[in-house]
Amino acid sequence: MADKEKTADATDKIVAGAAKLQLDEATGEMVSKSELKKRLQKRQKKEAEAKRKAEAAAVPSKPAATSTPKAEEPVNTTPPPTIFEVGFLDDVYKERPMESVVTRFPPEPNGYLHIGHAKAISINFGFAKFHGGKCNLRFDDTNPEAEEEKYFTAIEEMVAWLGFKPDKVTYSSDNFDELYLMAEKLISKGRAYVCYCTDVEINEQRGGKDRGARSQCKHSTQSVEYNLAEFRAMRDGKYKPREACLRMLQDITDGNPQMWDLIAYRILDQAHHRTGDKWKIYPTYDFTHCICDSFEGITHSLCTTEFIQSRVSYEWLNKQLEVYEPMQREYGRLSLTGTMLSKRKIAKLVNEGIVRGWDDPRLYTLIGIKRRGVPPGAILEFVSELGVTTSPSIVQITRFEQTIRRYLERTVPRLMLVLDPVRVVIEDAEELDLDIPFSPKFKTMGNHTVRFTKTVYIERTDFREVDSPDYFRLAPGKSVGLLQVPYPVKAVSFTKDGDKVTEIKAVFDKSGKKPKTYIHWVPEGSRGVEVRLHNPLFKSEKPESAEGGFLNDLSENSEEIYPNAMIESGFEEVKARAPWPEAAGEDGKGKGGLESVRFQAMRVAYMTVDSVDSTDDKIVLNRIVSLKEDEGKSK
Ligand SMILES: [Zn+2]
Repeated sequence: MADKEKTADATDKIVAGAAKLQLDEATGEMVSKSELKKRLQKRQKKEAEAKRKAEAAAVPSKPAATSTPKAEEPVNTTPPPTIFEVGFLDDVYKERPMESVVTRFPPEPNGYLHIGHAKAISINFGFAKFHGGKCNLRFDDTNPEAEEEKYFTAIEEMVAWLGFKPDKVTYSSDNFDELYLMAEKLISKGRAYVCYCTDVEINEQRGGKDRGARSQCKHSTQSVEYNLAEFRAMRDGKYKPREACLRMLQDITDGNPQMWDLIAYRILDQAHHRTGDKWKIYPTYDFTHCICDSFEGITHSLCTTEFIQSRVSYEWLNKQLEVYEPMQREYGRLSLTGTMLSKRKIAKLVNEGIVRGWDDPRLYTLIGIKRRGVPPGAILEFVSELGVTTSPSIVQITRFEQTIRRYLERTVPRLMLVLDPVRVVIEDAEELDLDIPFSPKFKTMGNHTVRFTKTVYIERTDFREVDSPDYFRLAPGKSVGLLQVPYPVKAVSFTKDGDKVTEIKAVFDKSGKKPKTYIHWVPEGSRGVEVRLHNPLFKSEKPESAEGGFLNDLSENSEEIYPNAMIESGFEEVKARAPWPEAAGEDGKGKGGLESVRFQAMRVAYMTVDSVDSTDDKIVLNRIVSLKEDEGKSK
């Protein structure tokens, strides 16, 4: 009895010791708390130094405003002010301080949103939210040719997923009647005319290198009555597409091309998603956007810098029409190097079966990023970290992944997952229930029980048939720690089938010597899962400019599949308790899909459940990000 007690006592100590081991994210090693602390301090010092140097070289930033940190762990620096409190967006607000801010997010419903749109969503919805205002989701659906129902739905879902609720969902097409009247008003004021020029002629009028000086269209001098009658004739179907259009009479002497008599209405022989065949003429973006902003009482119309030149025509048109004038301001767009966002090119990858669909986890569509398991909160944090200025943010994928990794580190539970299992029979082991914390750092995540069995499975790569002095995992005659298990195990023999090790026989190493390394394992009877590790889809940072086209730049190794992986039983609880974390659009039970079942597979990667290919019987896991930066790259 006394012996047994002694053993139990020792067991407790060792279990407690193993529970305290923490992952060093930078190296992927499991190390003691004090060692990790030492390492982190050393790295922080190094980082701080680098930061100081960088800051000395950069433009001085504004003083930090106050805000409360939300993170559960103590942070060593004061949180930076949000993008709405300082810098560009603060200046925009100060330029037009309004009591009730109204903004809009105006996507064209002709494709899936991508990572760049996440910035636009964060900015427009976030700006309104920060100032206690409202933000509309407006479908800019004036081009009937490209619109499809699935895009409308997907866009609304992505806005909600990022945690925002539009004050109203509006459609530019709902204003077709009003817009038409505005066009007649513009004609009546002598500021628009019906033009019969061909595309080539209109282009020639714009002047330029081979075309000589700019010139006024000969139709610009027609009378108001004539233009009105002809515009109505356009509306009533007298002309076929391209035979006539309505142009604004602006100022061709202006240096800005957006003032060179832009087209306001064109004829399209196409039914519209919402208005059917009511219209044969459709307003252009240049005509529609500013008027719809005005109709909706938008106070701050925020868009990307590609629209800087358009600001002049935007303001011109609202002024001419004597309607409410929103203020347009432009911020730099966000792009990630090594990603491809072109709709046409992604469509090619989808159609040729190179990827699993528009939501393939290797793509940077928002539905792809969602399926990959990236939490919406991490995307918002990423946008916020980059800040908002008038210059474009061209960012490497690794930086995006670094933010995701940091975010997951403090928000998801930890489990053991073995990708390529090999059987270990521990001959002198007894079954034992282990009480394992979901997170060594955040006790609030709670504990769960894992049954330790005589037969366990470890990673094939954690065993070597021939030992060497610089190797610290399992080998014949060598001991290794099993995470959370009282004693290290020592391999005594192994059997092979051909080249493949099929079983390792081991015994507990009760010598009392602390193992150099701990490895993850799962007990017998663990759930089998398929694991997909995704790597960058392209070999280069610029797939679009690869020789012979982007298809030549495809990486052969962008998806590694482990069909026979095994996961410990704690997974069932993590799945039942999802979303992890409860943040942004997943704030609450049932709000996240299967992709909100996230966890850190210790020593493996951050993982999520694939929401498309998983069933009750067969779980498919996707890698969200690797545990450390260079791991993903080297593969
Ligand atoms: Zn003309």
